[in-house]
Amino acid sequence: MRCRRPYQESSITTSFESLGLRAELVRAVADQGYTQPTPVQAQAIPVILQRRDILAGAQTGTGKTAGFVLPLLQLLTEHPAGGQRRIRVLILTPTRELAAQIEESVRTYGAHLKQRSATVFGGVSMNNQIRALRDGVDILVATPGRLLDHLQQRTVNLSQIEFLVLDEADRMLDMGFIRDIRKILAMLPEKRQNLFFSATFSTEIRGLADSFLHNPVEVAVARSNATAELISQLVHPVDKDSKRALLTKLIADGDWRQVLVFTRTKHGANRLAEQLDKDGITADAIHGNKSQNARTRALADFKAGKLRVLVATDIAARGLDIEQLPHVVNYELPNVPEDYVHRIGRTGRAGTPGQAVSLVSIDEAAFLRDIERLMKIKVERVVFPGFEPSFTMAKFETAPPAPVQQRQQRPQQQRRSPRPAAAGNGASRGAPANGRPSGGNRGSQNGSRDANRSGNRRPGAALNGNR
Ligand code: AMP
Repeated sequence: MRCRRPYQESSITTSFESLGLRAELVRAVADQGYTQPTPVQAQAIPVILQRRDILAGAQTGTGKTAGFVLPLLQLLTEHPAGGQRRIRVLILTPTRELAAQIEESVRTYGAHLKQRSATVFGGVSMNNQIRALRDGVDILVATPGRLLDHLQQRTVNLSQIEFLVLDEADRMLDMGFIRDIRKILAMLPEKRQNLFFSATFSTEIRGLADSFLHNPVEVAVARSNATAELISQLVHPVDKDSKRALLTKLIADGDWRQVLVFTRTKHGANRLAEQLDKDGITADAIHGNKSQNARTRALADFKAGKLRVLVATDIAARGLDIEQLPHVVNYELPNVPEDYVHRIGRTGRAGTPGQAVSLVSIDEAAFLRDIERLMKIKVERVVFPGFEPSFTMAKFETAPPAPVQQRQQRPQQQRRSPRPAAAGNGASRGAPANGRPSGGNRGSQNGSRDANRSGNRRPGAALNGNR
């Protein structure tokens, strides 16, 4: 499943050796079949090795993880700390899945080195994490909420951090982690190297970056255009109640073996996975209501080819990295256009082509127009023979949003307070002033916290609360 061909996006013909990486790291990337650094790697690695702060505009799928993990492994190895093992690198990420994936990358790229890593994220027991931390760790990958839990319980010590990575900073802000991030920043040593990665740069993101980066080198990698070329997009206008039959047909006719299907709600994800299973297509669902173990197992089964279809909600799918994922299906369109971009970004990764198909009923036609406006493209419509919709294409192109969806959106939109500077609208949800859920047993709440956090905090993401 590894990508064994050169990264197509790159016009730069550098090698990993020429970036100044040591032999063990070059060997590790060669083991993965990487023949050439991606653009973000070619730009970021030398800068990080020069011990400069970095402000990188790079989305997931660009190879950014290796862009910071490789040079960090090198710096740790070349400048050993001496004495007891202690956490020297902190990598903050928005989601558990992303944290797990980054740590897997640390292990993969560090296979021939001696650095040790661990993860800290919610939804799983704290005890195993405490044990791993006690055993000694050089690199810690964490989501902000659980890391604060450990800090409060003094089960983690960040006083020796030399390198901080803020990954997917825009997602973290979207998910309401700004206060947590600031609290964590306040507990780190002043003198450290900072690496800041974000796909987008709003004023808020810039503000956060300015507040702690020192004279950063800016690295920007345009992915969206290059990616768009690698992803073929298609819309099948279809009646709502024919969607499942059409999906089954597409999978069977196309002999699709690995399909990521998006629904808007957790309930919808469960139901669709069950129905597909009944249709003889192995499927499972991942969403914020499932335990971390269930999510991890479903993802592992999907990656291993044991499941043909993984049905996911937007939040759960964030950070999923499934190499060479060939098919993404929007069973329902998201009502937040940016989510569409993130969804289809699950395919066409690392230079491999992918296909994104959307099954669009008339009540979603307005969402499609919003998406097309955002992407500045028009997606081809193809009526699938045998699944002709009951509406005309003229109606489809002009249809207003269906009242039922408006009804679903409004209550939450009204409840949501305007996004404050510190993104802490937890107060409006009865949470304590620190913007975090109340109650003693944080561990059990963490099971859905990622989803809950994001659910109420993204402007326009009205249905997220149900994801
Ligand atoms: P990321 O943007 O870090 O999530 O990486 C996206 C995907 O690109 C991952 O599946 C990596 O394994 C893959 N990848 C990273 N670097 C390279 C490279 N130089 N050549 C080919 N694939 C790569």
